[in-house]
Amino acid sequence: MTVKEAIERLKLCSENQCNICGRYEKEECMLERNRCETILLNLIQKQDTEINKLKEENERLKYSCAKATEIIEEYANETENDIKKLIEYQEKYLDN
Ligand SMILES: [Zn+2]
Repeated sequence: MTVKEAIERLKLCSENQCNICGRYEKEECMLERNRCETILLNLIQKQDTEINKLKEENERLKYSCAKATEIIEEYANETENDIKKLIEYQEKYLDN
């Protein structure tokens, strides 16, 4: 049963308009409602677990990204310092 089917059946069996459950309608509808609610709850729990997994993965990727940015910035600073030293050296020794 899909989410859509479960919701539609739940609605039908809750509004006293059900013509599916049969002879002992009220009792059958109650059982059917319970069944649909269980199905929906299980699906919600499953999705909740999936969402939490994705959140954890997202946090992990954010951390990796921040680390990579840190390394790149460090490298860029070192390179900049090397270039400055090179320019200083050139000015001091090569231009005279
Ligand atoms: Zn019903």
